[in-house]
Amino acid sequence: MEKERRIVVPGDFLGTSEEFTLGTGVYDERGNIYASLTGGVSISDKRVIEVIPKVETPPTPEEGDVVIGRIEDIKDTLAVVSIACVKGKEKREVAASTQGIIHISNIKNGYVTEVQHEFSYLDVVKAKVIDTKALRLSTEGKDLGVIKAICARCKGDLKRKGNVLTCERCKRVEARKISEDYGRGLV
Ligand SMILES: [Zn+2]
Repeated sequence: MEKERRIVVPGDFLGTSEEFTLGTGVYDERGNIYASLTGGVSISDKRVIEVIPKVETPPTPEEGDVVIGRIEDIKDTLAVVSIACVKGKEKREVAASTQGIIHISNIKNGYVTEVQHEFSYLDVVKAKVIDTKALRLSTEGKDLGVIKAICARCKGDLKRKGNVLTCERCKRVEARKISEDYGRGLV
């Protein structure tokens, strides 16, 4: 079993050349061994010391995770979401091109006649992962749904007014499946 490796940065002192044999990711300066890159320290049975580069693996959304994404495409029965981040794991970027789908039956409680009445292209949505295989998302629930949207006519920011969104610039009114967190930023 592998122990949790100590994480070092370039220049960190690791030991002396009397104690260890140099492996990769380290350098020797007058008998002292230092890390030459950021990573985890590994010491083999034969006392070879090296630093294994630390590679951040992008977080994979898990069932029940809440994700923030942008509506990229709207089809007859579903919306395609490009996922930007997973809540609670915001510091790590998700792999580019991670796409989820919101099926028409998972948009909200109650009957939805058209996906276009609930979402629009480029809306920012907060959604919950309900199936990791196909990355199916749901926006059922008060806190889920659209949290940011722009006016289809003038591209101005839409403000929430009760159950609809209105454009302050051109006064257009648009319908959405709105999250109660609409307009509060990426909460
Ligand atoms: Zn407008």
